[in-house]
Amino acid sequence: MSEAQVSKSEVSPSLVRGSEAWSVSEAKKIYNLPFNDLLFQAQTIHRRHFDPNSVQLSRLLSIKTGGCPEDCGYCSQSVHNPTGLKASKLMEVERVLAEARKAKAAGATRYCMGAAWRGPKDRDMDVIVAMVEGVRSLGMETCMTLGMLSPLQAEKLADAGLDYYNHNIDTSERFYSEIISTRTFADRLETLANVREAGIKVCAGGILGMGETTDDHIAMLVTLANLPVPPESVPINMLIPIPGSKLEAAAPVDPIDFIRAIALARILMPMTHVRLSAGRNDMSDEMQALCFFAGANSIFVGDTLLTADNPGEDHDARLFRRLGLKPMALDAAE
Ligand code: SF4
Repeated sequence: MSEAQVSKSEVSPSLVRGSEAWSVSEAKKIYNLPFNDLLFQAQTIHRRHFDPNSVQLSRLLSIKTGGCPEDCGYCSQSVHNPTGLKASKLMEVERVLAEARKAKAAGATRYCMGAAWRGPKDRDMDVIVAMVEGVRSLGMETCMTLGMLSPLQAEKLADAGLDYYNHNIDTSERFYSEIISTRTFADRLETLANVREAGIKVCAGGILGMGETTDDHIAMLVTLANLPVPPESVPINMLIPIPGSKLEAAAPVDPIDFIRAIALARILMPMTHVRLSAGRNDMSDEMQALCFFAGANSIFVGDTLLTADNPGEDHDARLFRRLGLKPMALDAAE
């Protein structure tokens, strides 16, 4: 075994983070292991905590599209990116529930609702709360992504029974200001702290392929793993370069680097659901298979992800059959 194989999570699989932080140099050693060693280690840890052939299925709905005042360089919904996307108003609760019923019938156990906001306005909170309560009453897990949250807003969502709140850190602290200027990395961490404090589970990840280095991938994952409690879900996205956005010409991430990042996420955060998120449409089945082997165990299903294309359900069902994968049951999905 190489020395990097003696990772904290290996030594102590039940370790609750916070007692001992990962250092970037430790994480770098793991990330740079020979590929086969890295994947073997990630798969070994994965099997300790999860059924290796189960993948959690989430469905994402845009409940308020476009017109966002933030300037995230990758996003089709920012008013700063002339992508031609038409802005829409907040959806009605009944429409959201009708979509959630369809998602449940198609096997999704978690329903994620996203609004293109800097943060919710207090006047929107009643409608948001009704959506959470309605989706929960269907027997699904709920997740919201609404931008920055104050402690009071987080408490309201917690009282409504919200299971997860998504708020990505996007990239490393070093690279962050290259991508977003309208809110800081520290703002992001503050929202995550408010969510955790309110007792809501945390979903936080990032995007690869925005022009960052592999050191940024490592630093981002170390930041997530070293949160006082690591996120229960970590979505790893591959940039979809949107025409008209600041990152429309970004060079694609090397697929091997992407798979290494998935494996590192699994090793640093053994109990976390690592989600293969945006960009699956541009991944081969073979690349997705390697991501699952490296420890990814959650995907978004459905033809669209907010405003981007996603593999259709037929394609995913075929891929699952070829790989012998099955959807994770709700009780196993936390
Ligand atoms: S906050 Fe969200 S919706 Fe708004 S620009 Fe950034 S990523 Fe897009």
